[in-house]
This record gives sequence, C-alpha cells and structure tokens, in this order.
Amino acid sequence: MPQKQTSDETDLRNYLRRLPKAELHLHIEGTLEPELLFELAQRNGINPLHPSVEALREAYQFDDLQSFLDLYYAGADVLLTRQDFHDLAMAYMRRAHADGVVHTEIMFDPQTHTMRGVPIETVFSGLADGLREARETLGISSYLLMSFLRHLSEDEAMQTLEAALPLREAYQDLWVGIGLDSAEHGNPPEKFARVYARCKALGFKLVAHAGEEGPAEYVRTAVETLGVARIDHGVRSSDDPAVLQLLIDRKIPLTVCPLSNLKLKVVDDLANHNLAKLLRQGALVTINSDDPAYFGGYVLDNYMAGACALHLSHDELTTLAGNSIQASFLPKAEKNALLERLAKVVRQAS
Ligand SMILES: [Zn+2]
Repeated sequence: MPQKQTSDETDLRNYLRRLPKAELHLHIEGTLEPELLFELAQRNGINPLHPSVEALREAYQFDDLQSFLDLYYAGADVLLTRQDFHDLAMAYMRRAHADGVVHTEIMFDPQTHTMRGVPIETVFSGLADGLREARETLGISSYLLMSFLRHLSEDEAMQTLEAALPLREAYQDLWVGIGLDSAEHGNPPEKFARVYARCKALGFKLVAHAGEEGPAEYVRTAVETLGVARIDHGVRSSDDPAVLQLLIDRKIPLTVCPLSNLKLKVVDDLANHNLAKLLRQGALVTINSDDPAYFGGYVLDNYMAGACALHLSHDELTTLAGNSIQASFLPKAEKNALLERLAKVVRQAS
C-alpha cells in the first residue's frame, strides 16, 4: 500500500503530504509494526506467537473487530519497559511527520498493560518521553487520550482512572482527555456514564468510539449521556437521519478511518464508504488511521485511499485537512495558526 502509482496519484500524494494535518484517531498500540514487535520481543526475552515478521504480517487478515482485537492484545505483550513505550511512540511520530502530520491526539489503553503487571507509570512515562522528544526534534505537538476498554467493567475503568490521577500533574502538557475503545457490540456508551461524569467534572476532554460496528443509537448516547466532544468512527450515524442531524447541529466531529473500516469489514468496498456523503451533508468529518500497523496504511494512505475510491475533489481534501485541525483539542490561537499555514500551502499550490 500503495502499489504502483500513476503520476496523477504521485502529484496528489505530494499535495496531501504538504497539507498540515492533525491525526485525532490513533491507538499507539496499533502502530506496533511487526519489525518493532520482534525487536522488543527479543529485547524482553519473549517468544512471539508467530515465527517471523512475514508470518505475522500475513496473519493481519481479519473477519471483524474481534478477530483484530485478539491479535492486537497479543501483540501488546511485548511492551514492558519505559524504553519500549518510548520507542513505540517515537516510531509512530517519525512516520506521522513523514506524512505531514503537525499535531496528534493519541489514544492508549493502560488496562492492556496493567493487567499484564506493567505499572501505569511506566506506560505514561515511556509515551511521554517519546512524545516530548518528537515535539523537540520533529516539531509535532501531541495530546494523550487515556482510553478505557469497554469490554471490561465500569468499575475497572474507574479504578484505572483513580490509579492514573496522581500522574495528571506530571503529564499535564500531554494528558488532556479520555476515550472509550475495544469491542463495541453489547457494550453501549451508557455502561460508562459514571466514569465519564467523573472525568467531565475533572475537566478532561471526552471522546468515545461509537457507530463503528455498533448502531447509530450508540452515537446518540455517547453524545447525550456521556457528553463527548467528538465521536471516533461514527460511520453508522447515517443509518439514523436524526442522529446525523444531531452531529451536524452540534458540530460534533467524526474521526473516520477508511482503511480500518475496509480491513474490519465495516464496509465491503471503499467505493461504498459514506465518508464523502457525510462530508457533503455537512458533518465535520476527519480522516485518520486508527491502528495503522494492522490496517495497511498511515494517515496519508487513508487520505489517498479515500480520495481515489470516492473521487474527492482538491477542495474537499483541503476541507478534510482543515477539519482535522478544527476538530482537535488545541487552543484556538494554535488552531488559527495551523489553519493559516494550511491556507498558505493551498495558495502556493494553486
Ligand atoms: Zn479506534
């Protein structure tokens, strides 16, 4: 991904790379490339489930969200030390920088690590080392969104929050919000109403996955019951015109991930993806990569895949990049500065 490109595609890719973009839907554990997984396994004396990098990459064929999650949690087993989390974060940031990403809002799942005996401080400190280093050396800003695993109980989410809160001050430059991810079916947003209310009272920004495999109703309850500022995925919103209208009226962004949706069979063909339709109906749509090591492409690949399959115009692609900045949690002045940078690149290109 991508295979042989026409010169038009190369021109488009170069244009899209130059657009300043924010990536808002990204699980750091989902950026673990097979090569790094094997390197960390060796460093930590762990036997990977697969005999080689190639065999592991070949296993990345999924039937649905659950079949992906099984492999994803197994892969995370190699992450043990502060250095491991640093290396994971830096590897992603270098890749994002190469795609023209200027700001990232990264989800991480502490429960995936604490349940294996990795202290929550190790996760925070390692990721922060990487993200702060990237800010210094690559000039990319980042925020962290600590995410709860929705297949676990709300009590466990609450315990994770309480364990993390003493670290808030040390990571206040990064940790701005919380999210909700993992298996959506049977785990509606309202299951986490108490923990979201507590996070809201604490002043955290709130996001949640909803309407990926789950129904449009989950999008409504994520907005109305949890009070989220942004919906991760949300592609099923269009199943219910009232839910879609709610998102449009309240300008609640959707962080859409085309290659993820294709790989996990949320859509059968990218040509049938509703991203363009949602955008044209007035939803604040953004393009993101979700778990790029598993789904065959980073953010630029997702822009390209969407652009080619859905015949998005240059103006629409520019709007999508602008939406990513607009939908971020950056302060207004920083958003405006990035939007000006974007406008300048577009002027220079025309
Ligand atoms: Zn996701």
